Amino acid sequence: MQESRAIMEPDEWEYQGTRTTHPDASSNPTPLASNTTAGSISVSSAFNPGALDEISDTVLISSDSVLFYVHSSNISRTQPNAFRRLVGVPLTDAACRDRIIKIDEGSDVVAVMLHALYDRSCYPTPSFESIVAAVDKMRMYEISPTVQLTSTSHLYKLILSFAPVKPLEVFALAGFHRLDGMAVEASTHLISYPLSAITDAMAARIGTTYLLRLFQWRLHRTSEMKRIFLTPLFPHPPTRGCSFEGQRITSQLWAEVSANFGYEDHTGSTTAMLSFPDKRAKLTNCDYPDITLSFLRSLLQPRLQQIDCELCRDVIENKMRNIIVEWNAVPRTIPSSG
Ligand SMILES: [Zn+2]
Repeated sequence: MQESRAIMEPDEWEYQGTRTTHPDASSNPTPLASNTTAGSISVSSAFNPGALDEISDTVLISSDSVLFYVHSSNISRTQPNAFRRLVGVPLTDAACRDRIIKIDEGSDVVAVMLHALYDRSCYPTPSFESIVAAVDKMRMYEISPTVQLTSTSHLYKLILSFAPVKPLEVFALAGFHRLDGMAVEASTHLISYPLSAITDAMAARIGTTYLLRLFQWRLHRTSEMKRIFLTPLFPHPPTRGCSFEGQRITSQLWAEVSANFGYEDHTGSTTAMLSFPDKRAKLTNCDYPDITLSFLRSLLQPRLQQIDCELCRDVIENKMRNIIVEWNAVPRTIPSSG
């Protein structure tokens, strides 16, 4: 990473085109950077001279020659030393006026950092990679991710919106930057993530603290699953049509369920399979889905049809309901550090 401390004087660069016009924010969301390249320099539409109510007093230019017109007082409000490494003084210093401050980052990264500083929503949505790069570089520019990424901030919510499709990446970002609330919220999407698939590099990024919390939480869920499923099935009182002996099929069916959910090691160290011949449901012990009542029913329904006794079917149905109630009470995220 080349350190950029260069301050370009206005006469050091040649502005070759027209600036973008002020977009109507009420009807047209402001893109991260204008596509209307004028010569070799373009202007960010989100941070053009007229984009905000206040008159900008500071200009940044990214490595791909996009200009960002910003407000030193606005940026300094939460991060008084933001971008100080570029100029050696705070942005509010008079030395930062009437100059173009070069930042050796792409416009996508700069745009995300500025949107975070202004706590404005990014439009169009930047790529996840750009967001990660921007957050990772915040500290280098003396911007604290923990200050900018509070649970109510736009960027925090945007990052979490990626969690359903990139759960481990979001969790790693949160862990790396000690964004505890984000790590907790992201972890719910790791509820059935195969932990054995975590690479060494990803484990290093997550860090020992959050990696430990992730594994402890998953192990706790596994032990709770065993406890819940190993609770015995109590037969119904014998009737004329279904004696205790007659309930043997019901007991055997439940024994199969208990064996699959209760005895197998669900921690990922083995590849035990849950296999019901009727469903051909095969799940590695780490990939098992979050257990729901409909999932249990889908597994057991074909077998229940083999049971003639309505009371036996009720026993199983009630057992499944109780299991789901207990299972839903097991924490669905890592615990908060607070
Ligand atoms: Zn029965």
